[in-house]
Amino acid sequence: MKTVVVTGCSRGIGLEFVRQLLARGDRVFAGVRKPETASELTALAAAEPEQLTVLPLDVTQAAHRANLAATLGDRGIDLLIANAGVYGPVPDRLGQTDEDGWLETFRVNAIAPRQLVETLLPQLRAGNRPCIALLSSKMGSMGDNGSGGAYIYRSSKAALNAVGVSLARDLADQGILTLVLHPGWVLTDMGGPNAEITVSESVAQMLATLDRASSADNGRFIDIDGSTIPW
Ligand code: NDP
Repeated sequence: MKTVVVTGCSRGIGLEFVRQLLARGDRVFAGVRKPETASELTALAAAEPEQLTVLPLDVTQAAHRANLAATLGDRGIDLLIANAGVYGPVPDRLGQTDEDGWLETFRVNAIAPRQLVETLLPQLRAGNRPCIALLSSKMGSMGDNGSGGAYIYRSSKAALNAVGVSLARDLADQGILTLVLHPGWVLTDMGGPNAEITVSESVAQMLATLDRASSADNGRFIDIDGSTIPW
């Protein structure tokens, strides 16, 4: 049984992580921006109150991150899944830079994951073979950018990737792994109706990747099939 923290659990990939982690018996702390409207998540918590704790967590809010750390107390974190993310303003075309929207997207996608790790470092250090999983996107890859556009989302995920590599380097000697994951193109509100895989397939594959992760994977940008994505 692992102790797992997941962010952004109201819907989509985050909610499915909670479902699959509960099904395999893990102890889950699920952060959600608006608990009052996250009915599917709160129903899961009502069914498994010993296994699932739901916490209010807007990842950009320091007080929410501190409350999560206080709730965990001395409990170690074995797996931290930084899943919460936004696509940012649309349309995102040349000539229409939404500066405030860009900064807010950076806050959620790149800055908050670093701050979350900083806040939870004591619990990560106390974890069993602790691992940080950052939900990035292939759209953050420079090498894979063949179609342009999406300046805001792409750059926020590229920044997250840089955060991931630095975390991997800085925390390796403390035995904490950091993996940067692309979940595939997934049928969620963000992925849209034309996406290629279900949340169930995506999360099962990512959990399999995380289960077999070793020091050789530290700082890798990993596709849904386990292959390495170019930065
Ligand atoms: P969704 O848009 O379906 O869900 C996003 C989740 O993040 C929601 O739970 C949302 O909460 C939460 N969230 C947004 N902002 C915050 C915040 N400030 N604090 C806390 N929670 C927040 O996205 P997906 O499930 O599809 O995506 C999950 C992750 O996977 C994201 O990081 C995304 O970038 C990444 N990804 C997704 C792909 C896809 O094809 N779907 C492809 C590549 C990467 P709320 O309900 O309150 O808005």
